[in-house]
Amino acid sequence: MADKRTVVVVEDEDAIRRGIVDALRSAGYEPVEAADGQVGLAEAQRAGVDLVLLDLLLPKLDGFDVLEQLRVTRPSLPVIILSARGSEDDRVRGLRGGADDYVVKPFSARELLARVHAVLRRSPERPEPVLRIRVAEKEVDCGRREICLNNGQRIALSEMEAGILQQLAAHAGRVVSREELLSSVWGIRDGVVETRAIDMHITRLRQKLRGDGPDDEPEWIVTVRGKGYMLGPEAVTVTDDGAVEG
Ligand code: CA
Repeated sequence: MADKRTVVVVEDEDAIRRGIVDALRSAGYEPVEAADGQVGLAEAQRAGVDLVLLDLLLPKLDGFDVLEQLRVTRPSLPVIILSARGSEDDRVRGLRGGADDYVVKPFSARELLARVHAVLRRSPERPEPVLRIRVAEKEVDCGRREICLNNGQRIALSEMEAGILQQLAAHAGRVVSREELLSSVWGIRDGVVETRAIDMHITRLRQKLRGDGPDDEPEWIVTVRGKGYMLGPEAVTVTDDGAVEG
């Protein structure tokens, strides 16, 4: 992983909070501690925070209030609620309030880390980087920026081509607009590079991916008229934990 994910732990019980912090740290996350709701809200609103673990019964500001206020400023920041109160009401209230998941105490470190990992993977803010993408017999190695053919041959991709493919793969299952590609791959938000340039890169990328493969090879990139592009439905992506999503 290129940089550590920051996780704010809002929990007033010292022993539980320390346990969570240790587990996160040993799993490669950067934990930030908060022992009450007010500090928790302030920490969660800082730039660079990737996820919040939020207890419900907290001094100063309760977990539901933290969640409500957080949703105003950071609507898509992933939040997992931690609570001893495993009642249906709390669960529903938390999820309605915009929590992404819910873990009932007592939980094991392993269970918590699995939830953290799963929620971060779905996070629209900073999706896990896709390392490899496979369609039929071909694979793209995003790190090396190469198309790997079955016969061992490798074809280099440009930085832009690999960036486009990685961006589409990170949002597999939905359309990515040209404007989104511009800002994420080129880092431009004000149209200095025309969106037409993207179409040209996509055309070249498709030609490279297709190569001299069979005519019935599934599409790597699907054009969605008037909206943008999306990763072909047959493509399989692999993230850094080795998990495969079809
Ligand atoms: Ca508590």
